[in-house]
Amino acid sequence: MLKIAWSPVYAHPLPENHRFPMQKYELLPQQLLYEGTVSENNFFRPEPLSEADIIATHDPVYWNRLKNLELDKAEIRRTGFPLSALLVEREIIIMQGTLQAALFALEHGVAMNIAGGTHHAFSNKGEGFCLLNDIAIAANYLLRKEICRKILVVDLDVHQGNGTAEIFRHQPAVFTFSMHGEKNYPMHKEKSDRDIPLPDGITDAGYLKILRQELSSVIDTFEPDFIFFQSGVDVLASDKLGRLGLSIEGCKQRDSFVLQTCSLHNIPVAASMGGGYSEKIANIIEAHANTYRLAQEIYF
Ligand SMILES: [Zn+2]
Repeated sequence: MLKIAWSPVYAHPLPENHRFPMQKYELLPQQLLYEGTVSENNFFRPEPLSEADIIATHDPVYWNRLKNLELDKAEIRRTGFPLSALLVEREIIIMQGTLQAALFALEHGVAMNIAGGTHHAFSNKGEGFCLLNDIAIAANYLLRKEICRKILVVDLDVHQGNGTAEIFRHQPAVFTFSMHGEKNYPMHKEKSDRDIPLPDGITDAGYLKILRQELSSVIDTFEPDFIFFQSGVDVLASDKLGRLGLSIEGCKQRDSFVLQTCSLHNIPVAASMGGGYSEKIANIIEAHANTYRLAQEIYF
């Protein structure tokens, strides 16, 4: 069965009229239920992540300052969020969602989180709507518990996975793969194990050709036993922050290729949702919903 992490707190941590689009965390599960892609049984509600699991990835000093709401103004500004206890609570529930999704993926082949993909969180700082790094925390958990030996992070959000790259810079057991808009935030990029900067406006055919070549080559050479997929839909042409030119159908083919490849190679995959900032919320929901629809079609 497709297990999907979701909690009501995913949708309600910010003051009304904050510019970050929070509605998708509520509308996406509703859409998936409404259309019959999933039933209530597919969802599980994560608890907050343990502190031991947080500080196995993040600097304990940073975590304590975050938890006690002691970040300074500049640090808070960089996160893009007004800092609050509820926001931190939401973040550690999302972290646990990805960790548990990873464990479900080992059992069922695939599992997902209706949030996460917080790839701009570094070991000791947050930025770009990310406070803690869910994929890094879950990957470190799988390694620490000796559940997995070689983990591939496939980050297809339009923004480079700079935090993930920093966290795993000296960790050969984790291969970080990031395909992103060359001219998109972050302006200063970290070094992933494989970075694929893309030109502005690249469309479906060009994008998919590169993805097929590059991802296949990484899987063949690195031979991962687990994959984390950051499935941000800010690659769409309609995205307000992204600079690429994908259609909703192209984005669906992207997800289809990733999930088919994982399935074909028998590599468990946990998907974190990532970004999506199209003008019309319907486009965001449709593109994200495709990832979950495809998981059902391909695996169950
Ligand atoms: Zn993004």
